[in-house]
Amino acid sequence: MMRRLALLVAVLSVAACARPARIDRVILLGFDGAAPNLIEPLVAEGKLPALRRVMQTGAYGRLGSFEPNKSGILWTSIGTGKSMLKHGIVDWTYVNQQGLTVPYEDRGRRVKTYWEILSERAITTGTINWWVSYPPVPLPNGFIVSNAFKRSRPDSVHPASIYPAIDALRIAPSAFDEERRRQGFPVWREEDATVPLHGARQILKSYPVYFTDDMTLDRVSDALYASNPVTVFSTYFRLVDVTSHFATHFLDRGLYDATVAKEQAGTLEPGDVTALDRDFARVTEPAYAFMDRTIAKYLDRLDGRTLLVICSDHGFQYFGGRYNHANPEMPPPDGVVLLAGPGIRAGARIEGATLYDIAPTILDAMGLAVAEDMDGRPLRAAFDARYLERHPLKRIATYEGTARATSGAAPSHPEVDEKVLEDLKTLGYIGN
Ligand SMILES: [Zn+2]
Repeated sequence: MMRRLALLVAVLSVAACARPARIDRVILLGFDGAAPNLIEPLVAEGKLPALRRVMQTGAYGRLGSFEPNKSGILWTSIGTGKSMLKHGIVDWTYVNQQGLTVPYEDRGRRVKTYWEILSERAITTGTINWWVSYPPVPLPNGFIVSNAFKRSRPDSVHPASIYPAIDALRIAPSAFDEERRRQGFPVWREEDATVPLHGARQILKSYPVYFTDDMTLDRVSDALYASNPVTVFSTYFRLVDVTSHFATHFLDRGLYDATVAKEQAGTLEPGDVTALDRDFARVTEPAYAFMDRTIAKYLDRLDGRTLLVICSDHGFQYFGGRYNHANPEMPPPDGVVLLAGPGIRAGARIEGATLYDIAPTILDAMGLAVAEDMDGRPLRAAFDARYLERHPLKRIATYEGTARATSGAAPSHPEVDEKVLEDLKTLGYIGN
């Protein structure tokens, strides 16, 4: 009996090895501001089991970020594989023809995202809460829940038919305290701050909104993942970033004062920063634990044919008395990248990657060519030799030969959307 069982196990494992690794689907989970210098100590303490599992079974490394370190610019670079000079989203806002300062909208982007490139080729995609994605592109193959969904705009999603079901999933800011307790977050009150709050007061006041937004988007992502299956699914969360923007004010005061004194005296050593990082990680741990629980859910959804991509747009680093990322006096702190799935070498370390590499990596994994006019390259070093041999790199000059489709509509005029759809049909982007 034992021998027959052993034989069966041997046959099954040979079969598993013989089956060539193939990627049919991609899941991307984006976490704004997730930092390697904070994740690593938490993983070492056994605090983030899902991230540890991805690091052990997949590939992990730092993801280089860029100036100006603004999330709208950076996530557009992640989506397009291109620098801001090419994609055109160069700030949070711009001054429009009427002289008003307005946020950049989707139509301000000049080049295509990976989901648009895939969708043009009849590969279904679903993208949730991406920066600068409003008004949503009328994608021919898939859905978009733009970043304006948070503000309860029925015109914030495409197709509009998905709105009622996901609108019903909202968690109101008034439910913050109940939800906070359920998710294991402490109360961060101004009177408990160890380091005076100053500019961070407003973030703390608005925290119930940021928090419930992310809890809502987590539910929306779960619901759409189940109800609207797509080949390439991408979703984005902001809570780690928001929490990190005020966490300096809840550090151990003695350790913080000693670090600031050393920095001012010019005697700060890397070890001092590592010690403060550990304390910053203690404060931000609930937000990282939320990230980890979200990752755990998607790990359970992998099917052996799916590439899981986890990334952040920048990290946080101690500088000038607080944890920063957008301080022009310091280089932008690295984010993280993790890859897991078929063909990925278990325990591989990714070196020298940047934000620009994410879109080429996803296109390459889906069997599409990598465009020469993208600023990144696919992270093929994370894959094993057999996979790479079976999947040679394909190249194309550009995907910008045809104009990208945008919502030409003024946000609340559905009749104009109709015209855009007509245009798209004329261009052959969608069927008649
Ligand atoms: Zn960010």
